Amino acid sequence: MLWLHACPRCAGDLMEEQGYRGEVWISCLQCGAVLTGEDEAALRAPGRTLREPVSAA
Ligand SMILES: [Zn+2]
Repeated sequence: MLWLHACPRCAGDLMEEQGYRGEVWISCLQCGAVLTGEDEAALRAPGRTLREPVSAA
């Protein structure tokens, strides 16, 4: 999953990443910020001010 220009810190692009143990987090490609659980919930919720997610598939 990729969110364009959705970083709360720098308005960069956010990407969902997965670790080797299956843990998932969202981080910014430009500044490296890692979203908090609260930020992530807002990002995933439909109808928010953040841009619509762009599916990688
Ligand atoms: Zn950023």
